Amino acid sequence: MRDFYKILGVNKNASYDEIKSAYRKLALKYHPDRNQGNKDAEEKFKEINVAYEVLSDSEKRAKYDRFGEEGLNANSGFSNGFSGFANFSDIFNDIFGGGFGASEDDEIDDDLFITLDLDFKEAIFGCKKQVSYTYKSSCEKCAGTGSASKKPETCPKCKGRGKIAIRQGFFQMVSTCDSCKGKGTIIKDKCSNCNGTGSINKNEKVDITIPEGVDNGVTLRCNSKGNERDNKQRSDLYVKLRVRKDDKFIRKGNDIYIDIPILFTQAALGSTIKVPTIRGWKEIKIPLGLSDKELVKIKGEGVKDPHTRQIGNQYVQLSIKYPNHINDEQIELLKKLNESFGIKNDSNVEQQGIFDTIKSWFK
Ligand SMILES: [Zn+2]
Ligand SMILES: [Zn+2]
Repeated sequence: MRDFYKILGVNKNASYDEIKSAYRKLALKYHPDRNQGNKDAEEKFKEINVAYEVLSDSEKRAKYDRFGEEGLNANSGFSNGFSGFANFSDIFNDIFGGGFGASEDDEIDDDLFITLDLDFKEAIFGCKKQVSYTYKSSCEKCAGTGSASKKPETCPKCKGRGKIAIRQGFFQMVSTCDSCKGKGTIIKDKCSNCNGTGSINKNEKVDITIPEGVDNGVTLRCNSKGNERDNKQRSDLYVKLRVRKDDKFIRKGNDIYIDIPILFTQAALGSTIKVPTIRGWKEIKIPLGLSDKELVKIKGEGVKDPHTRQIGNQYVQLSIKYPNHINDEQIELLKKLNESFGIKNDSNVEQQGIFDTIKSWFK
């Protein structure tokens, strides 16, 4: 039985952050893009991904702690992802911010990146989406060479090296050959089917399951749905999520914020009010002595974290409002209220006396 804690090099009580940090270090070290053709690194990479997938998820981790790897396999909900990753995984982007694999020294231009727009609540609760996109497929007529005779010629300018040396004063600089754009070959008899590019665009539809709790900027990976490489294998498709803002709710991580205006009289009375949450209406009690813009927490009404499965909170900001217009009857009521607090409704009253009175209420 594999010890996932040992694989990530953390102890059994490691926090989520410790696990994430350990995973990040190892994943960078063993990533296939940095270890091309290295089978051992590939195996190691798969192993640390599986370990991370389990230990970063509190439910899976608890099962693993109690029943070991067997316990995980017994769970039907886990069966699709255990042998080396669910088809779509947001783990990568969450950890690497989407930049990994596309950095300058590690460029993989076969990978295909698309953007998917989601509504605010689709990201919070998860959903299924069908996405249409275009990928590059190797041209069948010229076998991907771009040449009608399937025989590209060696570039005469760089003699097939793809790079040329330019002398500038005392220095010699090497740059990409502009004649063949670094390919080392040129095509004189362009294939009519692909116009000499070697690839044609194909349309494809893919069904994507958006996990609950994802946020703006997260990238999901879809194995082998990207561009077709020369060896006919498909690269990966990366789907970057762009989440629309909501006009009421503001999301910060797994917490939700909302601003609710209340009348000064409601604030004074400590009323109970109903406020919207992402799951429906909830009652809250306005605390007596409330300050303007004070936050009231509704526990567990936030977003479920896709990794830890812990649910965030909703914070209601209560903004105390005063009416712009009040009628005669309301003026009389307010004057009576004023007097009941010992404040005279007289324009010549010294403010100092009122100040002392008000201060005494807070003692
Ligand atoms: Zn050239
Ligand atoms: Zn062609």
